[in-house]
Amino acid sequence: MENSLTGPIQGQGFWGKVLHCDLNNRQIETQLLDEALYQKYLSGLGLGVKILWDRIKPGIDPLGPDNILGFTTGLLTDTGTLFTGRFTVVGKSPQTKGWGEANAGGYFSPLLKRCGIDAVFFHGRSPKPVYLYLDDHGVEIRDASDLWGLDTVDTEKKLKEIHGSRAQTACIGPAGEKLSFLAGIVTDKGRIAARSGLGAVMGLKNLKAVVAAGTRRVGVKDRKKVTALTQDFQKRLRGKEGLKSYLGDRLLGLMGWITRKSPVYPRQPADLWRLLLSKFGTPALTALSAESGDSPIKNWGGIGYRDFPLSRSQKIGAEAVLKYETKKYGCFSCPLHCGGIMKIPDEPFPIEEMHKPEYETLCAFGGLLLNDDLGVICKMNDLVNRAGMDSISCGSVIAFAIECYESGLLNKADTDGLELRWGGAESILTLTEKIIKREGFGDILADGVKKAAERIGRGSEQFAVHCGGIEPAMHDPKFDPGFGMIYACEPTPGRHTVAAYQYLDLQLLEKKFKKAKKIPFLTTHKEKYRYDNKGPAIAVDCFYKMLLDGAGGCLFGTQIGGNLPLCEWLNAVTGWELAPDDYLVIGERIEQLRQAFNVREGLNAKRDFQVHPRIYGDPPQAKGPAKGISLDMDQLGTSFYQAMHWDLESGIPNRDRLAALEMDDVLQTFYPQRGE
Ligand code: SF4
Repeated sequence: MENSLTGPIQGQGFWGKVLHCDLNNRQIETQLLDEALYQKYLSGLGLGVKILWDRIKPGIDPLGPDNILGFTTGLLTDTGTLFTGRFTVVGKSPQTKGWGEANAGGYFSPLLKRCGIDAVFFHGRSPKPVYLYLDDHGVEIRDASDLWGLDTVDTEKKLKEIHGSRAQTACIGPAGEKLSFLAGIVTDKGRIAARSGLGAVMGLKNLKAVVAAGTRRVGVKDRKKVTALTQDFQKRLRGKEGLKSYLGDRLLGLMGWITRKSPVYPRQPADLWRLLLSKFGTPALTALSAESGDSPIKNWGGIGYRDFPLSRSQKIGAEAVLKYETKKYGCFSCPLHCGGIMKIPDEPFPIEEMHKPEYETLCAFGGLLLNDDLGVICKMNDLVNRAGMDSISCGSVIAFAIECYESGLLNKADTDGLELRWGGAESILTLTEKIIKREGFGDILADGVKKAAERIGRGSEQFAVHCGGIEPAMHDPKFDPGFGMIYACEPTPGRHTVAAYQYLDLQLLEKKFKKAKKIPFLTTHKEKYRYDNKGPAIAVDCFYKMLLDGAGGCLFGTQIGGNLPLCEWLNAVTGWELAPDDYLVIGERIEQLRQAFNVREGLNAKRDFQVHPRIYGDPPQAKGPAKGISLDMDQLGTSFYQAMHWDLESGIPNRDRLAALEMDDVLQTFYPQRGE
C-alpha cells in the first residue's frame, strides 16, 4: 500500500489533496491543490467539476476508458456540522452525453474523507474486476473477481467481512456491471447516487466498489464557533413536534385537495415539511402529491384524483409504508432521520430488511403505472436497490412499455409473452426483473425510454417521456413551473433536486442573500403561471444548490425551517470570512462550469434537452389541476438563460460574466481571441 494519504492542508475542513487511479496500469497519482481552488469551487461537486473540466477530453465516449469517474466529499463533511454527509459522483453521462453527477447520503463520504483526501478519480479501464480500498495507511487496488455478479447488498456484506464493519462501501450491482444507462452507485445497502447513469461508467471501468475506512478527522479553523452554530441550529429545529400525531394520509390528501382548489398560492410551510419528513420521510408526499397534481400519473397522461384517487394512493401512502418500518434511519450528521428500515413479513414477497421506498420510488412504481400494490412496489424497490438501478428511470421505462402495449404498438410477441396493462402488478414485477437482467424485452428497455423508443421504432417515441435522454423526476412542472426551467435548461436536465418555486418558499433565500431580496415570490396562481420573470429566482436557487453540493449538504436541511447556517459554518470551518453573497458567487461559478462542460461537448439545451410535450401540457389536459395549463417553455427558457447569462442560441456563458467570476480557463475556451 502507498504510505499515508493525508493531504497538506489540515485545519480548514479540506485536505488539499485528491487521488487519481489509473485503472489501465494500476498507477495511483496524488494531486495537491491549493486553498485558492477551494475558495473558488469549494469541495464536493465544485471540486469534481473543476477536475473533470481540466482533465476530460471533449468528445470522449462516456462508456469508454477515457471517461473519468470521481467520488468527491463535501467541504463541510465531518466538521461537526449537520446535514453534511453526502458524497457526489461526477463523470460524463451516458444518458445525456454531457455533464453527469449524482449524490447520496449514508456513511461513505466521512469515511472516505477520513483517509486524508477530498476526492478520488478513476481513469482508464481495468482489464478485470477490481475494487479500491483506502484507509489511514494508504490505498490499494484489489481483485474483485469474487464480487462480480453480486448484488449491492451482498457486495457490501462481503467487503465488510474482509475489511471490518466500520468500513463503508460505494458499489455497483448487476445494473452497473451490465452497463445499463439506469445504473447508479449504492452505499448503505440502498442509498443510491442514482441519476446520470454513472453506475454504467463504473461498470465499464470494471470497478466494482470503493471501500473507505479512514479514521483521521479533518481540522477546522474555529471549533467553538462551529459548535455554537450547530447547537443554535438544533435549538431552532425543535418545537411544534406535538403536531406530528395529527398527521396522516387523510389530512395529507385534504392538503392536496386544498392546494388544487385554493385561489391563492400558499407559501409552503417549512415547519410542517420538517414534521412530515421526521414522521414519515418522503412517502409523506405520496397521497398529497397525487391529489394536488404534483405527481405524474399514468406515464404523465393521467389525472391524479381521477385515475389514482385517494382511495388508491392511500394504499401506498405514508401510513401504509410506516406500518412496516422497524427503525428510523438517518445519514451521517443528520438530526432528522427521514429514512427508515423496513421488514415485510407478508406473502407473497416477504423481505427481511430493506430501506423504505422514497416518494420518487412510490410514485414511479405506483401512480405512474396505476399500481397500488404496496407489496409489489416494495419488492421492486428491493430489486432495484440490490441491482443498483435508478427507480425513477426504471418506473418510467415500464410506464412507456405499458402505454406502447395498451395502444397496440407492442404485443405479446414483443414482450416475451407478458401482457402489459396499467396496474398489472405481476407483469410489472416480472418486467423489472427482466430489465435488471437485460433479458429479452428487458434488454430493449434497460437503457431508458429514449433508447427504448429508438430500438422499438413504430412511432413509439410519442410515449417516450424524457428530458434530453433522462427520465424526469416525479414532479410535474405544470404544478410547479420552476421544475420546467430545470427539466429543460439546467446542465443536468429532468432533475427535481436543483431548484423549484416550492424550494424557494421553503428556503427563504431572500433572508439570506442580498441578491435574493428583490426576487419576486409567488402570491397568486396567476403569478405562478407568468413565465417571463422567474429566471432570476430559479437561478439564485440553482446557485444555492451548487453551494450546498460543494459543502456535501442535504437539500432537506435547507427546507425544514431553522435557517440552516450554511455560509456561517463555511466561514467558521475555513476561516475565510466571506459574505453570504460571496458564497453565492461560488455557487454560480460551479453552475457556469457545468454549463461550460456541456457546451464544450457540443450540447445545446434548446436542441438536445427537449422535454416531452406532456410534461409542459401540449396539448393541455381537459380536466384536473393542470386543466388548460400549457407552459410557455420558450419564455421560461429565455428568462432562465438571461438570468444565467447564457447566450440564447448557443448557451455559451457570457464573456463579461465569466470575467467577473474570474473563470479564465473557460474564457480561453470560448473566447480565445481575448487579450490578443
Ligand atoms: S434528511 Fe434524510 S436524506 Fe437528508 S441527511 Fe437526513 S436522513 Fe439523509
